Amino acid sequence: MCGIFGMLGGGSVGRTVEALRYLEYRGYDSAGIAASVNGKLRVYKSVGRIDRLQSVIPPDLDSDRTIGHTRWATHGAVSYDNAHPFVSSDNSFAVVHNGIIENYLALKKQLSLRGTVFTSQTDSETVAHVLQHHYKTDVLQAVIATANCLAGAYAIVISTTHDGNLYAIKDKSPLVVGLSDDGVYLCSDVRCVSRWASKVAVVPDKTVIAVSANGVEFYDYDGKRVTMQYFDAERSETETDTCGDFMLKEISEIPDRLRQVTSGYYADGGLGMPRELALQLRRIYMIGCGTAYNSGLHAASVARAFSDVDIIPVIASEYIYGHYPTDAGTLAILISQSGETADTIRAAEKVAAQGGITYAVTNTKSSSLCFKCRCVNYIYAGGEFAVASTKAYNCQLVTLLLILADIARLRGTLDSARHQRLLDSVKALPESAERALADSARIKRLALQIKDSSAVFYIGRVNDYSTACEGSLKLKEISYIHSEAYPAGELKHGTLALMERGVTVIAICTEPALKQKIAASVSEITARGARVITVAPFTIDGCDGIILPQCDASVGGVIAVIPLQLLAYYAAKALNRDVDKPRNLAKSVTVE
Ligand code: GLU
Repeated sequence: MCGIFGMLGGGSVGRTVEALRYLEYRGYDSAGIAASVNGKLRVYKSVGRIDRLQSVIPPDLDSDRTIGHTRWATHGAVSYDNAHPFVSSDNSFAVVHNGIIENYLALKKQLSLRGTVFTSQTDSETVAHVLQHHYKTDVLQAVIATANCLAGAYAIVISTTHDGNLYAIKDKSPLVVGLSDDGVYLCSDVRCVSRWASKVAVVPDKTVIAVSANGVEFYDYDGKRVTMQYFDAERSETETDTCGDFMLKEISEIPDRLRQVTSGYYADGGLGMPRELALQLRRIYMIGCGTAYNSGLHAASVARAFSDVDIIPVIASEYIYGHYPTDAGTLAILISQSGETADTIRAAEKVAAQGGITYAVTNTKSSSLCFKCRCVNYIYAGGEFAVASTKAYNCQLVTLLLILADIARLRGTLDSARHQRLLDSVKALPESAERALADSARIKRLALQIKDSSAVFYIGRVNDYSTACEGSLKLKEISYIHSEAYPAGELKHGTLALMERGVTVIAICTEPALKQKIAASVSEITARGARVITVAPFTIDGCDGIILPQCDASVGGVIAVIPLQLLAYYAAKALNRDVDKPRNLAKSVTVE
């Protein structure tokens, strides 16, 4: 969360604003820039989106050194005063920060005793004052001393009036350096700088960076020079070109992305795990947050049908602080679209520290998670910008199923005929996804009916329960309608008390064999006055329904979620919500 950016090079104001537009998905509470002009730091900030920021920046402002920020607040309300950049009291340092300074209260107290006046409630402002405090004659020494004072997670870009350089410090929040003919970039997002840079370096934790006209130098926290490995930047498609909402565009890309995910998996060498390693497994954890967790939940449910290893879905933040047996027989599959999710990265570190095998499943090459894990597989979903994840879920699910099937194949619990059947079902998915999307007019009509529900419940059994979890998450995050998911059989053990007129229940059933069971749940619900919409390859008398294309049960969830994604989208649109940037949320959650 939060996007930070810095550029040393001509035209840096325009490029910083352009970068902030790209980074806006990481936070959109407020934004700001600090440009160095004639030896002074000129700061412009505004609450709200980048368009508002641009309207307060003088059109003729130019600089060859600018830093910028787009915020998702952790400390202090959304306000002008709390917007970044922050400047030191003597106006000689400006900082932008992504992360949390955990010891900021102690630092603030010490500085206040020395007379520093704070203008915001943020943790980040402290850094500017600590820099001023440590500065004697050498900015690099002040930056290193400041780095040694900070606890928590941070990537910080610093501009100063004392010299013509930019500086940065990084621990646990993402930061990349990009080199181009136009100048040097510092940024929290590798895709953002890859549009301009030819070489990119992913900065490791506890690094100090000095960017001058002569080049970029890296130091550890003891001030010793370190070398950095650059790689060729991979240019991504111009993902910001869309005339509608990103979310709808991204849902419509699902068939095409499903074509790419399987070919990508095999082009990258498939499972990428030696047979001996697969044979020694005793348990597999599927670790993720939000939508990524739901994809792990679903893949685990499907794979239990052919696996002899315990497959346990775990929410990343629970794994970090909970007690989960982990040893050399443990495989942890760590799922994160961005590869920067702080909870998932911390979980990967804990798995590795306890001797487990770490396996990243991500959409972002060269993301921090890739560097933390022993094995990596990409989901080939393409850039995803809507905060509510859609196509990444479908692609994660396919990748996870291919991984778990390959492990079962190596262990001999999935024979070649069943393995081949699964692959054939995966190959048929793009066409089924196209058919599911073709029903969007009907889904839109149903969405108009559910938008005024007092609550929406999603129910399903076994594999369909995790689809229910993802459908419910989509609806709540972009429409703000209260929504929960339950295993269908669990409803009568308490939640049935909430069924009444005004409540809608979405009943998912991809398994024709479970039709009678779901029909029984439906009549229990309708008898209490709530309304039911079924999502199944069949209809149930007396209910509105979305008819799913026929699919093999092992992959049915990849398709069944599509109408739920559309239902959430159309309900949110009907309520006039900002579907791509829902309130209180941001994509790429880089704070714990
Ligand atoms: N803690 C800082 C603030 O609240 C940065 C937040 C972030 O990186 O998400 O402004």
